[in-house]
Amino acid sequence: MKNNIDLKKIIIAIDGYSSTGKSTIAKQLATELEYIYVDTGAMYRAVTYYAMHNGFISEEHFDREGLIAQLNNIELSFIFNEDKGFGEIYLNGENIEEAIRTLRVSNFVSAVAAVPEVRKMQVKQQLELGKDKGIVMDGRDIGTVVFPEAELKIFMTASADKRAQRRYDELKTKGEKVQFAEVLKNIEERDFIDSNREDSPLKQAPDAVLIDNSNMNIKEQFALIRQLAVDKIKQVNN
Ligand code: C5P
Repeated sequence: MKNNIDLKKIIIAIDGYSSTGKSTIAKQLATELEYIYVDTGAMYRAVTYYAMHNGFISEEHFDREGLIAQLNNIELSFIFNEDKGFGEIYLNGENIEEAIRTLRVSNFVSAVAAVPEVRKMQVKQQLELGKDKGIVMDGRDIGTVVFPEAELKIFMTASADKRAQRRYDELKTKGEKVQFAEVLKNIEERDFIDSNREDSPLKQAPDAVLIDNSNMNIKEQFALIRQLAVDKIKQVNN
């Protein structure tokens, strides 16, 4: 269903656990519908990257107050990459789309994302990006906090083992030297922190469609979610 100019647009929120393939599906869906795609995980990763490169976070310490004091100096933007078909993330003008996907960033990101001041700043930008609708946004709190009025909400899950295997394969393909056990540990730790933090914990919105993709391939997931989106767009245009 192409983005007919006369059709009312909707907001599609895709939340769920780490490494459930949310972004793969969200990107495909946005391309298909000619909607904007926003990877909010990339935004939290970008702030984490900034914190790591400016001495605010390491294995030994996390200077929360120091990072909070610098938040005004962090400017994030998405710039559409024609070849890739989606907007890549830039931090203060630098393309960090690839640099934020390491296991090291993954190991710190949930601590940074639990800081309310960090979330406040990100949510403000996310609301701005979605103000005209026609958006597919993936994350942890999109259907519960950022756009509780989203017309379509999906909540994705899969077994931790399956998710770790997918992430491990992905990191290996990119040439990162990682062990399966540390990838699994990272996924379990992020699940725990993301679900138990006080501000905007990861949880399924009551009106979200739950999809467990442990035994589904990407084609099957896409077909299912595409149909849900098409049905919803028809419904709001009736
Ligand atoms: O989606 P991705 O795995 O890249 O997200 C990285 C981390 O960013 C998550 O583990 C979570 O801590 C944080 N996040 C969040 N809220 C969002 C998106 C991501 O707290 N909306």
